Amino acid sequence: MAPPITDLCACCRNVLANGTLSRLTTFVRGSARSATKRDGSNKSKWMGVVGLEVHAQLCSNSKLFSGSRVQFSAPPNSLVSFLDASLPGTLPVLNKYCVEAAVMTGLALNCTINKKSKFDRKHYFYADLPVGYQVTQQRCPVAINGSLAYSLCAGKNRNCMIPKLVRIKQIQLEQDSGKSLHDDAGTHTLIDLNRAGVGLMEIVMEPDMCCGDEAAAAVRELQLVLQALGTCHGNMAEGQLRVDANVSVHRPGEPYGVRAEVKNINSARFLARAIDYEILRQIDVLENGGKILNETRAFDYKTGHTISMRDKEGKQDYRFMPEPNLPPLVIYDNETFPPNVNPQQVVNIDHIREQLPELPNDKRKRLVEKYGILAEHSFTLVNEDGLVQFFETVVEQTQVNPKKVIGWIINDFLALLKQNNLRVNQSFISPPALSELLNLLEKELISSSAAKQVFLELWKGEGKTAVQIVEEKELGLIQDHKKLEQICQCVIEGHPAEVSEIQQGNWKVLNKLIGQVQRVTHGRAAPTLVKAILEKKLA
Ligand code: ADP
Ligand code: MG
Repeated sequence: MAPPITDLCACCRNVLANGTLSRLTTFVRGSARSATKRDGSNKSKWMGVVGLEVHAQLCSNSKLFSGSRVQFSAPPNSLVSFLDASLPGTLPVLNKYCVEAAVMTGLALNCTINKKSKFDRKHYFYADLPVGYQVTQQRCPVAINGSLAYSLCAGKNRNCMIPKLVRIKQIQLEQDSGKSLHDDAGTHTLIDLNRAGVGLMEIVMEPDMCCGDEAAAAVRELQLVLQALGTCHGNMAEGQLRVDANVSVHRPGEPYGVRAEVKNINSARFLARAIDYEILRQIDVLENGGKILNETRAFDYKTGHTISMRDKEGKQDYRFMPEPNLPPLVIYDNETFPPNVNPQQVVNIDHIREQLPELPNDKRKRLVEKYGILAEHSFTLVNEDGLVQFFETVVEQTQVNPKKVIGWIINDFLALLKQNNLRVNQSFISPPALSELLNLLEKELISSSAAKQVFLELWKGEGKTAVQIVEEKELGLIQDHKKLEQICQCVIEGHPAEVSEIQQGNWKVLNKLIGQVQRVTHGRAAPTLVKAILEKKLA
């Protein structure tokens, strides 16, 4: 009973039109129609409401409150200090680098940085949290009231960018928990505390999104921002970026509905699928007279369904209390910077602001303005780590129009990378190699088909330069006027019908003769020369 396509918001309609949702919706489609028919009203006009809580693992070598190292897939329990294991008598020491990273992230997300934030204990009873509470900043976080601009890809060819904005409610510093590992027989649980105490930023977004596509696009943009800042590697598969999606539905103009929270989604694709499924599930429940529970759900990527985990109905009491072992976190700016303090020991917002790198959105704008490339191409460049730099280096090293360079980068270079599942820094073609090739093409020393051939040869990574390949494979254009004249003469003599057509004024047929010359020379005749010679001879 999915709502009729026209009743969804613009972007959901787009999702449906693209077929992404249709597979998920088959089980609900029929009943929506009948519900609308029964009372004749526009009952099925539902909107999804989505708010995300993103846990981003801070790129720090050590944990938030202890000196233990942080490393993915180290031997279990090899990175555990006494504090991480909650031994009595241990005390936390705040990692300054983590604070700076959170402040930098807050600035990049247009937040207000709280000059004084506080740490609280949030009580849970889980085996992988031996101390029985998580130190977090839910009540007085380091950054508040920000925003993240992102774009939604729409249109038939996904080349229309719809600008969107999601408000950031807050960014808080908190500790990660350990990991519980269950054995195959289901009889034992093993605990690995390597992750216990690793610094996280929880980035809480306001419920400003309305479908899976929007949420996935927002998370993708956030990932790019964090990677540009270097505050989080953002590798979702390694759990460095974990997303909880809060989902509800309502009819436009009415208050928001009760929300369910789909926990711990670790891929953007699954996030979109989980949210779209959850929206449709909730519509189905409501249309059939049911109630949405304020519950925690998990996404099963095999079935594409969300499943109830535990209900939040009797709202869990976390017994928040101030963390007595940590003083309030005080951050300064140039104005408030105290005179008698060691600058090494405190954080200065203005200092961090000066170090902000170019953010993805600014980078895209600059690429479009500076090089005249299409907006959609700027997205493709920024999405691939290292590709902007590759492109700009090639443009710098050639006389070729950037619009031509972008064609080679996207249609040839990136396509080959994807085909071979490689990253830009693993490619066999370097910017200077591609520049040399494009310069040969620009100077009309090779044809474009020969250039493609040279490109594939370069990709083999045998250490040959474009010039060497052109020489070895005799791919250079024939510029010899006399030789070309002879070939043109032969072609003219061999095609009397075409010649007479041209002489009667149909100059379009000239292309056929040019094609013949290229056939004879295996595409190596200099095209402008050939055209000039033929025109002169036939005039
Ligand atoms: P809590 O204090 O219960 O954690 P918050 O107000 O902090 O609730 O919101 C937690 C998350 O839930 C936020 O990401 C927010 O955007 C989202 N959220 C709040 N209300 C709704 C709703 N009606 N539908 C979907 N998401 C919501
Ligand atoms: Mg919450």
